[in-house]
Amino acid sequence: MTSATEKVNLLGMPKAKLEAFFESLGEKKFRATQILQWIHQRGVDDFDQMTNMSRVLREKLSEIAEIRGPEVVLDELSKDGTRKWVMRMDNGNSVETVLIPDGERGTLCVSSQIGCSLDCTFCSTGKRGFNRNLTAAEIIGQVWVARKAFMPFEPGPERPITNVVMMGMGEPLLNFDNVVDAMNLMMEDLAYGISKRRVTLSTSGVVPAIDRLGEVTDVSLAISLHAPNDELRTQLVPLNKKYPIAELLAATKRYLSRLPDKRKATIEYTVIEGMNDKPQHARELAGLLRGLPCKINLIPFNPFPESDFRRPAMNATRHFQKILNEAGYVATIRTPRGDDIDAACGQLVGNFEDRTRRSQRYIPVHQVTP
Ligand code: SAH
Ligand code: SF4
Repeated sequence: MTSATEKVNLLGMPKAKLEAFFESLGEKKFRATQILQWIHQRGVDDFDQMTNMSRVLREKLSEIAEIRGPEVVLDELSKDGTRKWVMRMDNGNSVETVLIPDGERGTLCVSSQIGCSLDCTFCSTGKRGFNRNLTAAEIIGQVWVARKAFMPFEPGPERPITNVVMMGMGEPLLNFDNVVDAMNLMMEDLAYGISKRRVTLSTSGVVPAIDRLGEVTDVSLAISLHAPNDELRTQLVPLNKKYPIAELLAATKRYLSRLPDKRKATIEYTVIEGMNDKPQHARELAGLLRGLPCKINLIPFNPFPESDFRRPAMNATRHFQKILNEAGYVATIRTPRGDDIDAACGQLVGNFEDRTRRSQRYIPVHQVTP
């Protein structure tokens, strides 16, 4: 990631791929088990230290393979305990990863792309354009770096990372294969062993990819809805033109119905003053979500310099929440965390150049004046 080499990077390979790799070397499959533990549980990136493998194999691995994670260029701690890393992925490109401790829980917010092509009007990542997809190694590399920051530790009740949310920079479903590989490593017992209920993919609504996702995994799903009707949602999330609300909610139901356990989807709703924060929006939302097993997460808008949008007064958001609660929904308000270090939702920008020409974007850009 910091420099391009010919060596194959083993960091992003889930178990099945590592097994195939070792078999191609004429080695036994169980080498995959050993190397997963070295890399992900012990944070080792030097083959020489992998003492349960023969010297010959270690030398061979050093010649053809590597374990290369992102380079940490900034590691900041917020007053509230939120920790943010800026990780350099290649020349000039970096992404941000955030760890939010909350009692027993530690939630790591992971990025899937450098930038984002979807250009939601209230999101600073979207406003910066799109550069490229992250590799599986770069995605799991964020978890690897964060976990290493707490080493040495024994896996147990005090695990620093108990949950992962794919809610950093980028739209994870537009980087499907790499995100699935990385999530498999998050859930792999030989790697991070995080329960499938505690790995959450958040999407702005790439409908066909939600169906594909249901065929290959059973992680938890969060839907970035943000509006109770198509007219308003299209202004906030331009992708809604292509995949309107009815299709999105139908795909969400299909996804939930395939899960082996009873699980709810999380509906994310960024509350923006004067846009989508009125009591009538809350009532419309309550009607829209009827019949969908879900909990609603209200995210007070996090301001950033290029945006004219504003965060509503807290009592307006509480009133919004109350209407949803009275209609029978579990609705929570996400406390803005880490905003003193620009680590809150939608403030993550990293550092990169926009490679998209506006005309080449996934769908046209819609500017909204609040
Ligand atoms: N692309 C995915 C995941 C990354 S965004 C998605 O859109 O779901 C993670 C969450 O932060 C989304 O719900 C997104 O809508 C929200 N968000 C983006 N910008 C925000 C802002 N400025 N304030 C509050 N929430 C924001
Ligand atoms: Fe992309 Fe999500 Fe931001 Fe929309 S909210 S621009 S989909 S990262």
